Amino acid sequence: MSITIHPIGTIRTPYKEKFAIPRQPGLAKSAMGEISFSKECNDPNYLRGIEQFSHLWLLFHFHQTADKGHTPLVRPPRLGGNHKLGVFATRSTFRPNAMGMSVVEFAGVSYQNKQLILTVRGIDLLDGTPILDIKPYVPYADSIPNASGGMAQHSPELMAVIFSEQANKQVQKFAPNYPQLHSLILEVLSQDPRPAYHQNSHPDKTYGMTLYDLNIQWQVIEQQNVVLTIQKM
Ligand code: SAH
Repeated sequence: MSITIHPIGTIRTPYKEKFAIPRQPGLAKSAMGEISFSKECNDPNYLRGIEQFSHLWLLFHFHQTADKGHTPLVRPPRLGGNHKLGVFATRSTFRPNAMGMSVVEFAGVSYQNKQLILTVRGIDLLDGTPILDIKPYVPYADSIPNASGGMAQHSPELMAVIFSEQANKQVQKFAPNYPQLHSLILEVLSQDPRPAYHQNSHPDKTYGMTLYDLNIQWQVIEQQNVVLTIQKM
């Protein structure tokens, strides 16, 4: 059987590349996303009452990696890339149907110039990700406080992040046009985006990531992420 799915919209996010996107939603609370609805769903009635819910489920398509296919076993980054688990025992992006799901915070709805937009916070989605469905998060059913989370029982340990004098000046310069830029950089880097195999090697490497149209460079010095520069690309 084959099923045809039409995305209900597309999300705009600060994450222009996969590198450095946190591994789950909520880890970088300052990451805002704006969902623009497709022609078919571009009607405010589709969202009537949604503001009653503080959190929403987004179902989406891992569009950037969907053509890479899948294998039964994957190496979750949480296990340092050294152990394999069945793909259905992980949240890997490389899966049959390439479907993702994220709980995000509701941040607002607008309808301007005849375009319906839903704003959400705490996202882990790449810019341009097709959104397949949106559902309210229902705490009594969706939250299971005593559930066991296997290898991902707790959120990852955070790394300290400091800004060089230059980076501090640059972040202040950009702040008016990039709301919450300082906290976004801090939250993203505290997740330690380096690949697991870099963590005990490559000591002097300068890393770079893209947020919005900004290139952010940092180095790991004595277990701390030191932001060196923030530059417009
Ligand atoms: N919360 C989701 C995603 C987990 S995997 C779920 O559990 O299904 C998280 C990773 O997905 C991020 O680190 C990012 O690199 C990747 N990702 C986000 N959007 C993507 C997209 N559109 N295509 C491919 N990979 C994407």
